[in-house]
Amino acid sequence: MSVNRARTIRSLLVQLVIACVIPATIMATALLAFDYQRERGRLLRDSIGRARAMVHLIDRELAGVELAAKLLSDSPYLQQNQLALFNDQAQQVLRLSNASHVVLSDTTGQQLLNTLSPLGDKLPKHGNPAQLRKVFDTGSTVVSDVYLSGLLKRLVTSIDVPVFLDGKVAYALSIGMLPERFLGPLAEQRLPPTWIAIVFDRAGVAVARTHEMPRFVGKPGALALVERMQAIAEGSLEMTTLEGIPVLMVFSRAPISHWTVAIGIPSAELDDELQRSLGWLVAGVVFLLVGSLVVAWTVGGRIARSIHGLVGPSLALSAGARVSVPTFNLKEIDEVGQSLTKVSKILADTQARFRATVMSAPTAMVMIDATGTIVLANTEAALLFGYRDQELLGQSIEMLLPDRLRSGHAEMRARFFGVPMARPMGALRDLYARRQDGSEFPVEIGLSPVRTDEKQFVLAAIIDLTERKRQTDTLQRANSALEQSNIELQRFAYVASHDLQTPLRTIGSFVELLRSSYADRLDARGNDWMRRIVLSVENLQTLIRDMLSYSRIDTQPRPFERVSMRDVVDEVVSLIDADIRATGAEVRCGELPAIMGERSQLVQLMLNLIGNAIKYRGDDPPLVEVSAESTGVGVWTLAVRDNGIGIEPRHHQRIFDIFERLHDQRHSSGTGIGLAVCRRVVQRHGGRIWVESTPGRGSVFYFTIGEQT
Ligand code: ADP
Repeated sequence: MSVNRARTIRSLLVQLVIACVIPATIMATALLAFDYQRERGRLLRDSIGRARAMVHLIDRELAGVELAAKLLSDSPYLQQNQLALFNDQAQQVLRLSNASHVVLSDTTGQQLLNTLSPLGDKLPKHGNPAQLRKVFDTGSTVVSDVYLSGLLKRLVTSIDVPVFLDGKVAYALSIGMLPERFLGPLAEQRLPPTWIAIVFDRAGVAVARTHEMPRFVGKPGALALVERMQAIAEGSLEMTTLEGIPVLMVFSRAPISHWTVAIGIPSAELDDELQRSLGWLVAGVVFLLVGSLVVAWTVGGRIARSIHGLVGPSLALSAGARVSVPTFNLKEIDEVGQSLTKVSKILADTQARFRATVMSAPTAMVMIDATGTIVLANTEAALLFGYRDQELLGQSIEMLLPDRLRSGHAEMRARFFGVPMARPMGALRDLYARRQDGSEFPVEIGLSPVRTDEKQFVLAAIIDLTERKRQTDTLQRANSALEQSNIELQRFAYVASHDLQTPLRTIGSFVELLRSSYADRLDARGNDWMRRIVLSVENLQTLIRDMLSYSRIDTQPRPFERVSMRDVVDEVVSLIDADIRATGAEVRCGELPAIMGERSQLVQLMLNLIGNAIKYRGDDPPLVEVSAESTGVGVWTLAVRDNGIGIEPRHHQRIFDIFERLHDQRHSSGTGIGLAVCRRVVQRHGGRIWVESTPGRGSVFYFTIGEQT
């Protein structure tokens, strides 16, 4: 079972759409990814810049507080140990520097003064002894990490500076700052509300935070972030914040305080854009694909419908019908449709012309298909077979045949349809047809194959031979009657000449006897009459002999044998030896062939020709040349040339007729039968004879003769 794998136009168009949309989608996706990466990079750089700006602000804040602390540490009230006045001064500085409190601690860490507490109250120890130790040890400013304030019981940071008395670090002056203080620099960058900004101290502990500050200040940042911040000064990290928000965290470390500001951009926000773009892309692709598929489906359907619309007319056309294809408003399809219509018209015209030719043909014509059914018959055919016009259509061809020929005809018909070619029917056989009334008549039939796209037909031209046959028969009858009368005539001539010979010989003998015995008793007149009688008898004998030999050619034919023409010429020369001697003639003979023929007749032929050549000599002694030339396969042309008196061209034909003579008896003896005999002999041997001659310049007698088998 074979499966039809041919694809439809629709499926091809759908494939085309998919083939167009897929690369476009891939390209758009790649552009999107590239754009996303570029956007992300830009955001990263921008955010790091913002973080950097924040740490600079923080460093500036701290520097301001440090300056205030240094100014206070140089206060003369401290030198003079007037703590009350110093306290007032510190309160003023606090207001100016927006710090939380000022603490003065001695080397043991004991607070001596705390602006948060009235002077004289019992104060606790400094909340960050490690830091304090650093101040006393190094004698330089120290910025703290976050720690719990002893008095405030809150997380604070501080800047601690040494107070020198007599060149020694006597006290440490700390200006404490609440974490909220650092929200200012963070706010200055106006981050989107969903973004998180965090200030970390050197230990990675949160100092300030834009979101959920109370919950996370003082707590170390996520481990991964802390490790990264300690490893590099600036960078980024994908992570989850302590409150559990996935973010892209960018950070920058302050060059002075070494605190770090980290900005967390929620991943959701970052990916939102991508997802939105992706969403648009997918929607666009789907829309494009569906739209294109719908268009392809519709267009494909329309093309397919148009092409299907051509199928009907094409089938009708192949069946020989006249078609008119409607328009489909599709240029190419309409062009095909127009071509079909044109072809149909041409076909119809050709068919009409063919029909008209057949119908108007003066010959009877019938066209049959392979089943022998007549599909076309002209009026001549109907007339010939004795039917009414169109009555033959649809009938079997066999009904036009005599009953006895019908059975074998189907087989012959099948054979012809097997190898159809134009040829006469029933070669070498007499053909007969049958009229409606049952009468038979002889016919000649010519067959021509006619091929259409799907079918083979045969056109038969039928010629009624009745009249021709009748004429031929009449002619044949007349011919055979003529032949018979000819034979009888020849026989009569032969018998007459033969029977005349004996009494003539007797007359001749007695006349001779009369002359020899009574010559002296007759006067001169009687003797002259006697001489004339003898001469006439001799002439009559010659005539009868010649007539006998002429009539013998056909009446007494003998079978052909192989005859050497050279031998024939030799025999002739010996026969006329006396004449040759008497005239001083010379007979030359070239190379001559051996041929099939009747020897005695060939001797007669050469005897007449050579004899005439000597007989009709000119003033010179006769010169006769016999030659032969091969002029075809097995055909020879023999020539007998003489130097005699020649023959005028107007007599060249006539001399071969019986009793035709150019010279009377006074000039040369003869009967006018010799050349007629030559012609009969040559004809009997399948050749022809003719002469070429110019008067006074001799003659050449040619004859052709075949090598008869
Ligand atoms: P005949 O010789 O008996 O008269 P032929 O039939 O042999 O009859 O010849 C017919 C005529 O053709 C002759 O009368 C003669 O005039 C002419 N003829 C034949 N042969 C020659 C020849 N070789 N040269 C000239 N004339 C010739």
